[in-house]
Amino acid sequence: MLFTGAASCGGCEIAVLDINEKILDVVAAADILFWPVAIDTKYKDVEAMDDKNIDVCFFNGAIRTSENEHIAKLLRKKSKILISFGACAVHGGIPGLANLANREEVFKTAYLDNPSTENHDKTLPKTSVKVKEGELTLPEFYDTVKSLGQVVDVDYFLPGCPPPTKLIIDALDAIVKNKLPEKGSVLAPLKSVCDECRFEKSEKSIKDIKRVYEVDKIEEKCLLEQGIICLGPCTRGGCDARCLDANMPCTGCGGPTPNSLDQGAKMISALASILGLEAEEKMSDEEVDKLIEQVRDIVGTFYKYTLPVSLINRRVMK
Ligand code: SF4
Ligand code: SF4
Ligand code: SF4
Repeated sequence: MLFTGAASCGGCEIAVLDINEKILDVVAAADILFWPVAIDTKYKDVEAMDDKNIDVCFFNGAIRTSENEHIAKLLRKKSKILISFGACAVHGGIPGLANLANREEVFKTAYLDNPSTENHDKTLPKTSVKVKEGELTLPEFYDTVKSLGQVVDVDYFLPGCPPPTKLIIDALDAIVKNKLPEKGSVLAPLKSVCDECRFEKSEKSIKDIKRVYEVDKIEEKCLLEQGIICLGPCTRGGCDARCLDANMPCTGCGGPTPNSLDQGAKMISALASILGLEAEEKMSDEEVDKLIEQVRDIVGTFYKYTLPVSLINRRVMK
């Protein structure tokens, strides 16, 4: 078994440790051959393995650089089962929001126009630099972030940011008992976050959109009915609606509900109907604009985790 990451925050690998004493069952059932956060192994150890030598690879993180892509392809070759683990690998995740810019703009923000960076020589990362000792190389930084499944063939998908502990345990259990579902399955329930949410739901119709801090007191009812955008209706469950337990709206990390082509588009459509925008022809342009302007960060709100796999997967650059 193998755990590794590409463009990721490391949270998915820590989430594996959250299974607590169950990790002992994993170690008893399988040899862990590679896990950079936990054991000291190197890429060359994987490269030396026979093809299909690894039974299961849990791969977290998006594909941002040529190194990420190389490792994804190498591990595909070496693994019998490749599991896309966490929102970044499954949908591109938060790193995928960088598809609103290209490489040049990302470098400009990170290395030049940044109040916490001193870079008097305006040095930018290069793939190759000659020094007196020889050549130093860096992986290529791509213009566009992709999900793992956009680069290699993936066997299973385990979404979440990070995936909920229960779903990780269920997946490990299914592997150990040889009870994995058919290839291509998402290892999470078919229901939505709304189906798991404790809040009472009724007919939704709102006039204003608010952020959580703008609401004096959260009432014991659906957050959407209180004017707070909650992606529960268009997000796959399996997390027991854990954000709602903290009175925070679902931001959609479970990815789209089954048979949904585009999570953000589905939520925009649901919100339009709750806001009464279906009666758009009876409204003035100003009234429609006023309603739409209340959503201050459209991509960040509706595509926080899924921009690279959405229908319009990046900003069109001229
Ligand atoms: S899915 Fe979330 S926890 Fe996992 S690597 Fe991406 S940002 Fe981190
Ligand atoms: S929209 Fe959000 S708050 Fe309302 S029921 Fe669904 S998950 Fe719960
Ligand atoms: S409630 Fe939504 S954002 Fe929170 S963990 Fe569940 S799917 Fe993710």
